[in-house]
Amino acid sequence: MVENMQEKLETLLKAYESELNFNFKLIDPKKIVVSQWVRMKCTFGCSEFGKNACCPPNAPPVPECERFFHEYGTAAIFHFAKRVEKPEDRHDWSRKVNEKLLELEREVFLSGYERAFLLFMDSCSLCGDCAGTRDKCKKPQMARPGPESMAMDVYSTVRQYGFPIEVRTDYAQEMNRYAFLMIE
Ligand code: SF4
Repeated sequence: MVENMQEKLETLLKAYESELNFNFKLIDPKKIVVSQWVRMKCTFGCSEFGKNACCPPNAPPVPECERFFHEYGTAAIFHFAKRVEKPEDRHDWSRKVNEKLLELEREVFLSGYERAFLLFMDSCSLCGDCAGTRDKCKKPQMARPGPESMAMDVYSTVRQYGFPIEVRTDYAQEMNRYAFLMIE
């Protein structure tokens, strides 16, 4: 039974890998790096603070984020490499990717992984105009936080697995974006 679940999981991930054009790795979530500096950057310097219903202060405190990751034994990192013509094009692209990843989250859940929980590739942008608070969220069943909202140091986390990530200095450069699926 467990073997069947594992095979089904891998088949699902591979099917989405070719459809969404990402590459992925299964990881031990205890190696996810959670840092206070990430929360500081969300709180000071990010225009979405207080305006996005999935971003701080609408996200758990940092120690709870860490506890959440430590409750899992397996997670998937999804790596997307993308170059866009205009900076604003990235929003439409990431919304489409996140919607599709929600379908994957559901399929993983239905295949027996009751804890399945997605962290979007970036802040939730399913609606053009975010409601700003959890209680007013327009799509509460679909909304998910991004890894940074959960205080994840994405740079340090993905580098442990050999994925590329650097600070970009110009929008014309290729983006390396990451989403995470917490599995079991
Ligand atoms: S679903 Fe819409 S309202 Fe809810 S967090 Fe996402 S963008 Fe905001």
